[in-house]
Amino acid sequence: MQVLMTILGQISEEVIVSREYKMFINGKWEMGGERIEVRNPYNQEVIGTVPNASNKDVDRAIASAEKALAEISELPAHRRSKILEKTSDLLARHKDEIAGLIASESGKAWKYSVGEVARAVQTFKFAAEGAKQIHGETVPMDAAEGSENQVGFYMRFPVGVIAAISPFNFPLNLVAHKVAPAIAAGNSIVLKPATATPLTALRLGELLQEAGLPDGVLNIIVGPGSTVGDQLVSDERVSMVTFTGSPPVGKRILSRGGLKKFTMELGSNSATIVCDDADIGLAVERCAMGSYALSGQVCISVQRIYVQQSIADKFIDKFIAATQKQVIGDPLQKDCDVGPMIDLNEAERVEQWVNEAVEGGAKILTGGKREETIYQPTVLTNVTSDMKVIKDEVFGPVVSIVPFDTVAEAIRMTDDSRYGLQAGIFTQRIDSAFQAIRRINVGGVIINDVPTFRADHMPYGGNKESGFGREGLKFAIEEMTNPKMVCFNL
Ligand code: NAP
Repeated sequence: MQVLMTILGQISEEVIVSREYKMFINGKWEMGGERIEVRNPYNQEVIGTVPNASNKDVDRAIASAEKALAEISELPAHRRSKILEKTSDLLARHKDEIAGLIASESGKAWKYSVGEVARAVQTFKFAAEGAKQIHGETVPMDAAEGSENQVGFYMRFPVGVIAAISPFNFPLNLVAHKVAPAIAAGNSIVLKPATATPLTALRLGELLQEAGLPDGVLNIIVGPGSTVGDQLVSDERVSMVTFTGSPPVGKRILSRGGLKKFTMELGSNSATIVCDDADIGLAVERCAMGSYALSGQVCISVQRIYVQQSIADKFIDKFIAATQKQVIGDPLQKDCDVGPMIDLNEAERVEQWVNEAVEGGAKILTGGKREETIYQPTVLTNVTSDMKVIKDEVFGPVVSIVPFDTVAEAIRMTDDSRYGLQAGIFTQRIDSAFQAIRRINVGGVIINDVPTFRADHMPYGGNKESGFGREGLKFAIEEMTNPKMVCFNL
C-alpha cells in the first residue's frame, strides 16, 4: 500500500504494508472472524482489511452501547467537552496521516482530503463548545387557563443509544457530524461506516479512545448495509438512527426501523443559477470546484447550471476551459483535482447515463470518456428535464448547462426537483437573491457561491427526498436530545 508520509513538511510516498484493522466493541479492539478487503479505487490495491461483523457482534455492540449509557449521560458537560476538544487536537496532530487514509480509501484528491481533516478538526471543536450549551427554558404556564398555579420549565436529556450509518464520500467529517454531537449530548453510539471506506472511521475511534472516551460509548462495526446495517436499525434497544446516504436506502431504513427518532441526510441534484449581473469569473471557478470535487460524488455537487441567455456563450467558453484544466489522476498526487469514482460499477453507471442523454439529443461540450474507475469531467448541453442527468442524482463529474431568460424561470427550473438540499445563485441584485430564498424549497440557499458550500456549524439538511432533520453541531445536538418538561404545582 502506498501512503503519504510527511517528512519535515514535505510529502513523499513510502511503501508500507496494508494494515489489519479491528472492530471496536466495549472499549476493546477485536479481530473478529471473516474479513473484508478495502481497496484503493484508483489502483485497486488492498489498503487494509476489516472484520465483517457477525449477528452476534452487532448484538454485542448494541449491548455495550446500552451499558455505557449510564456513564456517558452522567458525565458532566465539561468532561464530555474536554474529550471532544482533545480529539480535535489529535486529529490536527495526525492530519497528514489521516488525509492519506481518506485519499487512499475514497479516491478523494489529496487537497480535498486535507480539507476534510481540517473541517473535522473544527467539527469536534464546535461539538466541544456545544456540549456546554445544552439547556432548556422556562414555560409561561399561566398563559393557559387552569395552569395559573404551575411553574414549568423543560430540560434536554440524551436520547439513548444512537445508530450512526455513514456514506463513503466523507469518511471522516460525516462520521464526525454524527459521533461528535452524540457524545456532546451524552449519548452512546454504534457506528457503521460505509463498507468501501471504513478505515478512517476506525482510526477516529482510536483517537477518541486516546482522548479518554469511556469504554462502550462508541462502538464501531463494519459490514454490509443489507445485513449489519439492517440489524442495527431494526433493534429495539436503539433509540435513534442518524443516517447519511442515498434516498432508497433512507426509505428502506425508515420502513425497517420502527418507533425511533430518525435524521435522514439524503441525496440531491443540486442546481445553481448564474444571472447576467454575476461575477462570471467567480461563478466559473466555484462551479468547476462544485461540479468536480471528489468526481462529483458529493450530495451537494453542482449538477445543473442555469445561465442567463445574454451571458451563456461567455460562461460556457470559460467553464469548458476551467473543466479542461482539471488535473485528473492519482488522488495521492498533490496537484490532483479529480480522482477515481468509488468503484467501476459507479463509473460505468455514470457513463451509461451520459450515453442515454446523448441518445436523447444532449450534446457533450467536453469530457464524456471513461478509463477504468475514472470518468472525465463532463459538460452537457441541449438536455431536457426528463433525462436522468437532470432529474436524478448523477453523483459523478457530470454537469448540464441550461440557458434561461428570466430569473423567475430559472428559479422554477431549480425548484422542479424531487430533491431539496441546497441551491446557489450568483447575482448582485438583492431582489433576485430574495426570490430564490423565498421560492426554492431547499434546506439552504447560497448567494454568490455554489450549493456545495457548507460550514460545519450551520444547520445543514434537506427537504423533500433530500431527507429531514438537520446536522451542524448545535442542530444535531438538538436532534440527539429529548426535551423533558417539569411542572411544579405550587
Ligand atoms: P448508500 O449506498 O445509501 O450507503 C450509505 C450507508 O448506508 C452505507 O454505510 C451503507 O452500507 C448503508 N446501508 C446500505 N443499505 C443499508 C440498509 N438496508 N440498512 C442500513 N444501512 C444500509 O450511500 P453511499 O453510496 O455510501 O453515499 C452516496 C449517497 O449519500 C448519495 O445519495 C449522496 O447524496 C448521499 N449523501 C448525502 C449527504 C447529506 O448530508 N445529505 C452527504 C453525503 C452523501 P454499505 O456501505 O455496506 O453499502
